[in-house]
Amino acid sequence: MGKGLLHIPRTRSENMVLYTPGSSSSYPDDPPENGIRLHFLGGAGEVGNVGCIIEDNTSTRVLVDYGLAPTKPPRYPSESPSVKHAIMTHAHIDHIGMAPWLATYGTLLHGTDLTAAVSEIMWSDTYKVSDIEGYPLAWDKRDMEVALDSWMPHKFGEWFAIGDWNCRLHPAGHIPGAAMIEIKTPQATILWTGDLDTRDSPNAPRAVPIDCDILCMEGTYGGRTHPNRQEEEGRFVARVLEVVSRGGTALIPAFASGRGQDILRILHKEAPGLNVHYDGMGTRVTREWLGCPEFIRDASQMESAYRWARRVTGKSDRRKALRADVIVTTSGMLDGGPALWYLNRLRHDGSNAILLTGYQAEGSGGRRLLETGRLPIFGNQTRIPLEIDKFALSNHADHPSLCKFARECKPSHVVLFHADEGAAKAIKAELAVETKVYLPSNSQTLELLN
Ligand SMILES: [Zn+2]
Repeated sequence: MGKGLLHIPRTRSENMVLYTPGSSSSYPDDPPENGIRLHFLGGAGEVGNVGCIIEDNTSTRVLVDYGLAPTKPPRYPSESPSVKHAIMTHAHIDHIGMAPWLATYGTLLHGTDLTAAVSEIMWSDTYKVSDIEGYPLAWDKRDMEVALDSWMPHKFGEWFAIGDWNCRLHPAGHIPGAAMIEIKTPQATILWTGDLDTRDSPNAPRAVPIDCDILCMEGTYGGRTHPNRQEEEGRFVARVLEVVSRGGTALIPAFASGRGQDILRILHKEAPGLNVHYDGMGTRVTREWLGCPEFIRDASQMESAYRWARRVTGKSDRRKALRADVIVTTSGMLDGGPALWYLNRLRHDGSNAILLTGYQAEGSGGRRLLETGRLPIFGNQTRIPLEIDKFALSNHADHPSLCKFARECKPSHVVLFHADEGAAKAIKAELAVETKVYLPSNSQTLELLN
C-alpha cells in the first residue's frame, strides 16, 4: 500500500500478493528497547488520513485508527505493519476508511458499539464512491464483510486488555460514539484524544480531561477561536427563517454522521413550525444512532427531531421536498449525494439559499462554489446564482479549549496530530513553556521516555 501500489487493479489475487502487511512498511522490525514508540502512518502534519502504531518493549503493539482522506484523489496512510489489535476512535471515514484492509489479515477492531454499527454505512459509501470516481481502494466488498465480523465493541469506561496493556474508551465529544483511548502500559499512561470537542454539542456529550503521561491530541483548530456556539446557532436559525419568510427554500448540505443530526436538533428545538426534509445517507446513520441511545445526548430529543423531519425515501418525496422550507442532505461538501440534485433545481429561484455548516475541503464542490460561484453538476460547470452563507458549527475544540484540555490532563509529553503545520505550531507555542511538545511527521518514529 505504498504509493506505487495504489495504481494496481483492485483484484483479490493481486491484493494478496502485493498488500502483505510489512512488505513495504518503514516500521522498525524490533520493539523499542525502552519507552513508548509512536509511528504515524498518516495524520501527522495533516488533517484526516489518520493511522498510528504504538508499541513498547513488551512487544505489545496497537494501531490507532486507519482512515483515508476523502479528497480528490483520496489520500491514503502508508502501509501498516502486522497488528493483532486496532482501536478505531470514531466512524468518520478519515479514521476508519482503510480498516477493512486490516481485517483481512486478522486484525481485531476495537471501538464503541455505535462506531461499529455506523462503520458498514461509511465503508459501503466509500466503496461506491471509489467505484464511481475510479479511485483505487486497497480493499473490496469481501474484506468489508470480514471487517464487520472483526469488531470487538466496548462500552465507555470498560477496561479491556491488549497484550500487557489495559485500555478503556471515554467520550470524546465530536460525534456520538466517538472515543478517546486511555492506555495503561507498564511504563506510562497514554491518552489518545481522537477528534475532540470539550463542549456539549446537540447530540454528543463533551470530552473531559484524563490524567496521563503522554497526551496524543488532535489540533485541527490550533490557532483559531470559534465564535460562541449558542450565538452562532442563533444566527443560523435567524438566517433560515429569513429565507423561508421570503418564500425560499434553505438547502443545508450536511455530513451524514454528526452535522446533519445536529442541524435537525437545532431546528426542531428553535423553529418547530418549519417544514424540514431530511435526505441522504444521514437518515440511515441516524437509525443506527437511535439503536444505541446510550451514546446520544438526550436521545429522546434526537428521536423526536428525526420523527419531526420528513425523511425523503424516494423520487416522489424528493420532488415534494423542493417545496419544503428546509432541506438537510448529504454531501456536506457538495461533492455528490442528493444535495446536487436539489441544487440543480433550486438554483433557478433567487429566493432560495445555500447554508454551509461544515468545513469545505480544498478541491471540494463547496469550496469551488465559494470561490467561483460555480459547481460541477453531472459533469457541467454550473453557475449557482444563490446566496451562500457559512456557519461555524464545528464539533472540534478550538485553540483555547485544546490548550486548556491539555493542561488539565497534566501530561509530560504532548504529541500533536490531525493538524496542519500552522495549527500545530500555534498549540506548541503555547504549551511548550510547561511541557514537551512534539510535532511528528508521517513515517517517522518517535520514542518517548517517561
Ligand atoms: Zn471526525
